[in-house]
Amino acid sequence: MALKITYATMSADNEELNSAFEKAVVDVQSRLGQSHGVIVNGDHRTDRETFEEVSPIDHNIVVGRYAQATTDDVDDAISAARAFAPEWEAWGWEARRDLMLTAADIMEEQIFEISALMSYEIGKSRLESLGDVAETVEFFRYYAGQITDHNGFVIPLNSLGANETNTSVLRPYGVWAVISPFNFPMALAAGPSIGALLTGNTVIVKPSNTGALMALEFYRVMHEAGLPDGALHILTGLGSVIGEHMTHHDDVDGITFTGSYPVGMHLLQTASEKRPKPVSCEMGGKNPVIVTESADLELATQGIVRGAFGLTGQKCSATSRVYVEDSVHDELLEKLVAATGELRVGTPFDRSSFMGPLIEKGVVEKFERAVEEVRKSGGTIFTGGNVLDDGDLARGHFVEPTIVAAPLDSWIWSEELFIPLVAVTPISGLEEGLALSNDTEFGLTAGLFSTDDEEIDRWFTEIEAGVTYVNRAAGATTGAWPDIQSFGGWKGSGTSGAGGGGPWYLRQYLREQSRTLIR
Ligand code: NAD
Repeated sequence: MALKITYATMSADNEELNSAFEKAVVDVQSRLGQSHGVIVNGDHRTDRETFEEVSPIDHNIVVGRYAQATTDDVDDAISAARAFAPEWEAWGWEARRDLMLTAADIMEEQIFEISALMSYEIGKSRLESLGDVAETVEFFRYYAGQITDHNGFVIPLNSLGANETNTSVLRPYGVWAVISPFNFPMALAAGPSIGALLTGNTVIVKPSNTGALMALEFYRVMHEAGLPDGALHILTGLGSVIGEHMTHHDDVDGITFTGSYPVGMHLLQTASEKRPKPVSCEMGGKNPVIVTESADLELATQGIVRGAFGLTGQKCSATSRVYVEDSVHDELLEKLVAATGELRVGTPFDRSSFMGPLIEKGVVEKFERAVEEVRKSGGTIFTGGNVLDDGDLARGHFVEPTIVAAPLDSWIWSEELFIPLVAVTPISGLEEGLALSNDTEFGLTAGLFSTDDEEIDRWFTEIEAGVTYVNRAAGATTGAWPDIQSFGGWKGSGTSGAGGGGPWYLRQYLREQSRTLIR
């Protein structure tokens, strides 16, 4: 591919890229609507109840039918993963790394087909889908580089005598459970799995039913790369049934959950009740942006619009609260409304679409409730606020990108909404902006637009968020990329303290064994 795609890629005006994506959209049609089994130890178990996933672009398109795993399937997958774990560790990190690099090459070769499938599945714009797959390719390569740079995490220690050798060895926990959300269905099923597998754990993935096709595509790529059957198992099914059973299972040694705050908190409080195990939860956000008087308002406009409306507001990092210094509030608002009016809403198959559909009907209803709340609370809708159901759009879940003002005690300002709605309010200055920004249970991403070095330094020090951006037009709070921005939350947004795609990430999949040998 001539053009390197990241989430910061600003426009899809590259002919080669567009033609390749559009060819793939046609080529993959025969792969839609198929039935898929639960994958346990290489067996595809199809004789189960199924979940039918329809496309959010068009409810007439069936993306796939997924067998719903039973708790027996969970038990079987965990026991196969447990049985294979010693052999997988014995492979050694170099062999596992080489396999990951092979998988990266395979995925990169198939990037257009996998992205086209993702656009059918989630409704993502072509750039967002390509970004999701390209990010996964980067995860393989970045983590492979990390384990190489750290020599497999084996460090010689000091000794107290000539005949004594001491070593710190980081070793896998054993069986790792990965639970993934719908919105980055490849990167967030694959990213934690790659981290866990590379470090020598065997892995069981429970993807969201909406987005399951991408977890199955990840499995297919790993299988083509030569991953042994015992190393990776895919359990499609209900979180409340098999997710629950799997995470509370005695033979699961560690968990990476990515999803909403209530589910993450529940897992944190209960999953290690019977035995200690690391439970890493990456959860929601309510991501604030401050714009001060010194800001470049053009940059701020671009960054806020991309941050709020990219992926239809369904990013954990979406910009949802904007605090603007009084003196520039009206001017910025005018620019935001104008830029939002230029965004095209439509299917990923239309080259000019920036914003696709919401994932399901229930979320459209949440959008309507939020708009209603703005009206009822005495707020203002500056632009948007409507469901789009003209012509072909009626078969999907399309809404307008929406900018509002609402009283600061409205739940619009506190709840994670996961819709393309951003609230804007004036502030007296950075001091008030910081207080409002930090007044939340969340702490995922945050943005600042300012050209004043003192403001920038203070903001970096005082903002309570794991991922921070100053003056970023490519996304005021969105679009982290492996080896460019590590991605992980603080406070109620995340527990690992070590962002995905960052230099500390792999460590959480390993436990230290100190080895003293006296000859
Ligand atoms: P969700 O919490 O509804 O579901 C996430 C996963 O958890 C799904 O696979 C689901 O089946 C499973 N699950 C549900 N109940 C479970 C239980 N009791 N036990 C075990 N598993 C269970 O989230 P979603 O709607 O798919 O995704 C959107 C959410 O994810 C948002 O809150 C978003 O902010 C968050 N998210 C966070 C990050 C991050 O890195 N911090 C990234 C992407 C999404």
